[in-house]
Amino acid sequence: MKAAVSKEDGTFNVEDVPEPPDPGPYQVKVKIAYCGICGSELHRFDPDYTSRPPQFRPPPGGFKGPRIGGHEASGTVAAIGNEVKGIEVGQRVGMNFRSPCGTCYYCRNKLEHFCERVISASGAYAEYAMYHANAIYQLPDNISLEVGALLEPVTVAVHTVDLANIHPGCMVAILGAGPIGILIQEVAIKAGAARVLVSEPVATRRELAKKLGATVVVDPVNGDLVEASKKLTDGRGFDTVIDASGKIAVARQSLDLAGPGATVVWAAMYPVGDEVGVAASEMYAKELTIRGVFISPYSFPRSVKLLSELELEPLISIRPIEEINEAFHDLLAGKGMKVLIKP
Ligand SMILES: [Zn+2]
Ligand SMILES: [Zn+2]
Repeated sequence: MKAAVSKEDGTFNVEDVPEPPDPGPYQVKVKIAYCGICGSELHRFDPDYTSRPPQFRPPPGGFKGPRIGGHEASGTVAAIGNEVKGIEVGQRVGMNFRSPCGTCYYCRNKLEHFCERVISASGAYAEYAMYHANAIYQLPDNISLEVGALLEPVTVAVHTVDLANIHPGCMVAILGAGPIGILIQEVAIKAGAARVLVSEPVATRRELAKKLGATVVVDPVNGDLVEASKKLTDGRGFDTVIDASGKIAVARQSLDLAGPGATVVWAAMYPVGDEVGVAASEMYAKELTIRGVFISPYSFPRSVKLLSELELEPLISIRPIEEINEAFHDLLAGKGMKVLIKP
């Protein structure tokens, strides 16, 4: 089968690799329709980000066989193994890329995303990929496979909003309007946010944020973010501030924009070891809550329902797998939003 295999220098080779075998017990083989490029992958070979949580590190001695990435996928069930219930060949599905074991300490303590025995899917920049049955979600009939490929990033937005203490009528700032920032914006509005400020340096992304319901969009480079924030919040600061940019300076700025009692969510990957200065007295004076977002536990069933409630088509562009290197290149330059690779 055709697959995009990672090379040491961070680029891909599109080559012919062995297809996953027939599925074993509890396994489901999926013919991949689309696989979105995730912002986290843009950092894949950046040494600043490579000290990853253990479950995302290569196994000792490196990967066995071709290293195929891609984890935001949709497709059609091609084959099912023994013991798989409720999933049939031919169903259109969206997938999680990891399956918690259900029995470890974390799985039994409402923290499945820190599962000690997580089962990872094979990479989805390929014609076929293999999943554990509990990573598979049937798509509603009115959801296209294109939109279905946004299921996993939508779960990240849902989990972020779960942590963000958003309630009806509240004021929210979102710093960074890449795909995750935009999805967070849409879910935050669904959750009741009444005034939403979006800060984003790329003009096309600001326009999209505005079109999808942001109250105010600001260019943080040439505009005045602090002034716009004061104006929108009557000088009080936001109830919730979410950094979706992954920049340390912006994570710091998120604290300044937060009002008394606010929740700040750092919903991005950051360079390992970089620190954000927070005065303890600032925490005291504002009673801030700061949350991090790793991935998205317990968010998939709700996100499947949201696929038809969010405006997702405007984010999507599609490129054939042969153009995967150009697609990464363009995304690093801020071109495109959610780019789906078609194997
Ligand atoms: Zn991702
Ligand atoms: Zn577990």
